[in-house]
Amino acid sequence: MGREIRRVPLDFEWPLNKVWEGFLMPDRFDEVDCSDCKNGYSPQAQNLYDLWYGYLPFDPASTGSTPWRHDSPGVRAFAERNVTQAPDYYGSGEAAIVREGQRLASLWNGQWSHHLSQEDVDALVAADRLRDFTHTWSREDGWQPKEPSVAPTAAEVNEWSLRGMGHDSINAHVVIEARCEREGVETRCPTCKGHGSMEKYEGQRAEAEAWEPTDPPKGDGWQLWETVSEGSPVSPVFATADDLAGWMSDPERGDRWVPGDVARKFIDDGWAPTGVVTPGRGYSSGVEAVGWSESQY
Ligand SMILES: [Zn+2]
Repeated sequence: MGREIRRVPLDFEWPLNKVWEGFLMPDRFDEVDCSDCKNGYSPQAQNLYDLWYGYLPFDPASTGSTPWRHDSPGVRAFAERNVTQAPDYYGSGEAAIVREGQRLASLWNGQWSHHLSQEDVDALVAADRLRDFTHTWSREDGWQPKEPSVAPTAAEVNEWSLRGMGHDSINAHVVIEARCEREGVETRCPTCKGHGSMEKYEGQRAEAEAWEPTDPPKGDGWQLWETVSEGSPVSPVFATADDLAGWMSDPERGDRWVPGDVARKFIDDGWAPTGVVTPGRGYSSGVEAVGWSESQY
């Protein structure tokens, strides 16, 4: 990926390195921000979201969880690692580890994400979001459910949340949604139905969903395009493949120069009948296959 050949009219004019307009969703599909929510949540769900991340004061007792202490094993291990990795910042020795442990405990005690209730954990298991507990993984078989099935406790999951990646934003959403359901409140903002934005006119969203990118016009010319962005031309339009190959292999192009046979093979491959052509993307050839690495651009 990265570069492709397109056949465009000889008089095709589009600025180099500027994304072809047909590839970009037009501004007319932009919606208006919802005035009643930040990201599509109801006020109650937004409140839970803020508790999850600690943007609002959170109390571990509210989920029946025990506050972390500086010497809780997971906190202590994290503090030791921080202090060891940056002694210039944290200082060193036991006092520094305790101090860092207290800071971490205080931070995590302010976040629901490290103090889930058993119901929260059950919701994550039901949504298949705790595979570290419920599955095994191997290179041969990938993820496989444990037999018999395993139901992690809230304490186990909260301890786990201090290590590695912990919960992602999908887990946050699953837990928030499940709790809204249990409490019988709406998860989604009633104004925008959870979209976070409003249509400027009726049917705008359906039009945006139906929108498809349009390729540049087709013609007899040969042009090199980059596909790192949505797609823009990077060479002049040439009348023949040889002329384009000549341009690609011109030493004047400095570090973008490629050997003539490589350029020619790239172009030929791009137009071989067996080539893979997809709507909106044109032909994509594996440039590595012809010995042309991305770093040359
Ligand atoms: Zn809204």
